[in-house]
Amino acid sequence: MTGDNRCQVAIAGAGPVGTVMATLLAQEGISVVLLEAGGDCAQDLRASTFHPPTLEMLDRIGITKMLLETGLKAPVFHWRDRKSGEVIDFDLSEISDVTRYPFRIQCEQYHLSRALAEGLERLPNADVRFNSRLLTFQQDQTGVDLWVETMTGIETLRADYLIGADGANSIVRKWLGIGFDGFTYPERFLTLSTEVELADHLPNLAYVNYVSDPDEWLVLLRVPSLWRVLVPVNGAVDEETLRSDANKNAIFDRIIGDGAAVQTRHRTLYRVHQRVAKSFREGRVMLIGDSAHLNNPLGGFGMNSGIHDAFNLFDKLAPALIGNRDVDGGLALFERQRREVTHTFTQTQTKQNMEFIKGNQDNAHEARRQAMLAIKQDDVQRRQYMLRQAMFESLETAAAIA
Ligand SMILES: Cc1cc2nc3c(=O)[nH]c(=O)nc-3n(C[C@H](O)[C@H](O)[C@H](O)COP(=O)(O)OP(=O)(O)OC[C@H]3O[C@@H](n4cnc5c(N)ncnc54)[C@H](O)[C@@H]3O)c2cc1C
Repeated sequence: MTGDNRCQVAIAGAGPVGTVMATLLAQEGISVVLLEAGGDCAQDLRASTFHPPTLEMLDRIGITKMLLETGLKAPVFHWRDRKSGEVIDFDLSEISDVTRYPFRIQCEQYHLSRALAEGLERLPNADVRFNSRLLTFQQDQTGVDLWVETMTGIETLRADYLIGADGANSIVRKWLGIGFDGFTYPERFLTLSTEVELADHLPNLAYVNYVSDPDEWLVLLRVPSLWRVLVPVNGAVDEETLRSDANKNAIFDRIIGDGAAVQTRHRTLYRVHQRVAKSFREGRVMLIGDSAHLNNPLGGFGMNSGIHDAFNLFDKLAPALIGNRDVDGGLALFERQRREVTHTFTQTQTKQNMEFIKGNQDNAHEARRQAMLAIKQDDVQRRQYMLRQAMFESLETAAAIA
């Protein structure tokens, strides 16, 4: 704990992306203050998939072992056709020549944020401040002044750099006046979790299943203690109705029958967006994670790409903080690489994944099913598809940008 009002880097937001960024910096001896508006790291039902390159990166900060021990290994994921029951399976062990982790890890994101926040609290040069909401900031040639609301009043802090990892409604992005172009899907996404073993009702279920259906698509995901069901719902209907027993019963009736017998642990509604910040940096202030880009959860790219932002930024920023070297060119490269990847890979692929799972009329649905079968049956296409879905392609895209 530093406990004073001066640090090299201040980070707003102790989600998965902010805690990874803070750990990278703090483990190099850089003084970091991590500000979190909540009383703890948020325990929500969002990300649960860690892709192979993310696991490799997280090895650098020594946290992959915990994820492997806590989460479930999912080497296989399914594209399923809901009407016919047909399963098209993809096995990541086919790409074990490019990764030591040829599987996804299924583990809720808060395990990562919590473990990293605890680790930070043990480092003398890191200071994790919960109940501390960044209100505003002002930058000049040599640093950034921050105003932070705490339980006892407004505190000030001076940092060399500020990193906004403060999520979709980022105050850092807003104060910089950076546009956030894109769109919001008209439907909302309802996430239901249950201890009922869905695999007892749906034979041959993988831990990760994308279930395509023109009428009601689904994502069925296993995490260690629960099944999670992600389903689109009519965005015009009120929240109470969408979260009601009647709606839950109807959804599970259609999945396994006897929905009334299914107890749920969570019923959470999300609005889902495709948006990218017009810029990821202004002067000494940078944006990473959901503060910089949002996408639908089909493929599990949001948190993973935010963690990739953090690693990229660390490699560009650390030389300035450790070696006092000029960092401007590096920060410009961070922005070029991560914005390009966000547009050409993450946005494109998640929109495509959504189109694919949704179908429209039956003809379009059938055409997509045939396209997926063609990918599965062709060795070259299947390998490329798995490298893309496992996010290796996104890192190649970034590396190609000078
Ligand atoms: C249903 C669903 C499923 C998903 N599944 C996946 C998946 O499987 N894989 C995947 O990669 N992604 C997934 N995502 C996306 C993923 O959850 C997000 O991309 C990820 O949480 C982004 O992390 P973050 O740290 O950038 O932001 P957040 O997790 O939103 O964290 C931001 C933090 O900043 C804090 N904060 C906000 N304002 C302030 C302030 N002014 N001062 C201080 N603190 C502040 C907040 O309290 C919060 O703790 C999913 C999303 C949804 C909706």
